[in-house]
Amino acid sequence: MKKHNFYAGPSILSQYTIKNTADAILDFAGTGLSILEVSHRSKEFVAVIEEARALVKELLDVPEGYSVLFLGGGASMQFCMVPYNLMAKKAAYLETGTWAVNAIKEARLFGEVDVVGSSKDANFTYIPKGYTVPQDADYFHFTSNNTIYGTEMRYDPDAGNVRLVADMSSDIFSRPVDVSKYDLIYAGAQKNLAPAGVTIVIVREDALGHVDRVIPTMLDYRTHIKKDSMFNTPPVLPIYSAMQTLRWYKELGGVRELEKMDLAKAEKLYDAIDSSRMFIGTVTDPADRSIMNVTFVMRPEYKDLEKAFVDFAAERGIVGIKGHRSVGGFRASLYNALPMESVEALVAAMNDFQERH
Ligand SMILES: *Cc1c(COP(=O)(O)O)cnc(C)c1O
Repeated sequence: MKKHNFYAGPSILSQYTIKNTADAILDFAGTGLSILEVSHRSKEFVAVIEEARALVKELLDVPEGYSVLFLGGGASMQFCMVPYNLMAKKAAYLETGTWAVNAIKEARLFGEVDVVGSSKDANFTYIPKGYTVPQDADYFHFTSNNTIYGTEMRYDPDAGNVRLVADMSSDIFSRPVDVSKYDLIYAGAQKNLAPAGVTIVIVREDALGHVDRVIPTMLDYRTHIKKDSMFNTPPVLPIYSAMQTLRWYKELGGVRELEKMDLAKAEKLYDAIDSSRMFIGTVTDPADRSIMNVTFVMRPEYKDLEKAFVDFAAERGIVGIKGHRSVGGFRASLYNALPMESVEALVAAMNDFQERH
């Protein structure tokens, strides 16, 4: 049976990426060796990381003066690397979900954290607005897409003259971003790009070197800039897969085209939720709804049917829709690699289930 993969992360990858990665596991670039067993300094792999870097720059239109890094440690490692490298005294954070909370917790180890806005009081069902970023902050950090709560900021927030830092783990490559407004963008690969194991960092070089503290070598962005992400052994396989996905993104027409497809998928699912008597979205302001992770539950009168719907969907090959424990209900992740056909299958399952109850 065809599977429809709605997992939140690690998550669906294109068949293009999976097939080409499988081929390289058997024979990498005609070397007669597997990608799993070659030196990261071989000319064949150096060509891969260089192409991946060039494609990130091309797809996101990264200006001069920025470096693109491929690091280990996940997005969670960036929660500490960001303040380590950028916080002299104080930083501003927007608290919009679990990942933001984790980032704030780490930042507090390095200095003063000003939480300028929070939606914690309402279980992160909306994006705080009308906050002010203090102009003496070293940077302003926000999470562009809240993977668990299904809210998203599809715009670059205004932080005045303060450096802008974003965790784009779950919506990078789903829209054009004006990178020049940012000093640092990071994204774990396992949501919209590659298997787990690599994190992309896009950093403005002149934002670094302004803190007095001693930074351990591996946690210093300058180490990785100087060595082109080859200071130590980089995550070779995830970088290879990322390069394949980036090639596929380029073939599809780049982030503008990807955004169109993502918007169409999200609209289809939100329309089904909004016109249903059984399901209801969890995000209070439609403007804050994520197009990557759609969170919804059953209305109170049908609440006890949630488990039955997960099973009903599974019988139709629909997997990964059980909601995160902090929200409950359902979460359908509609990352770039998910075809419209899968959204249609989910909507059909929702309608059929509703008719039976
Ligand atoms: C998944 C996720 C993380 C954590 O990523 P790891 O690579 O597991 O550390 C951080 N931020 C966001 C927005 C995420 O979706």
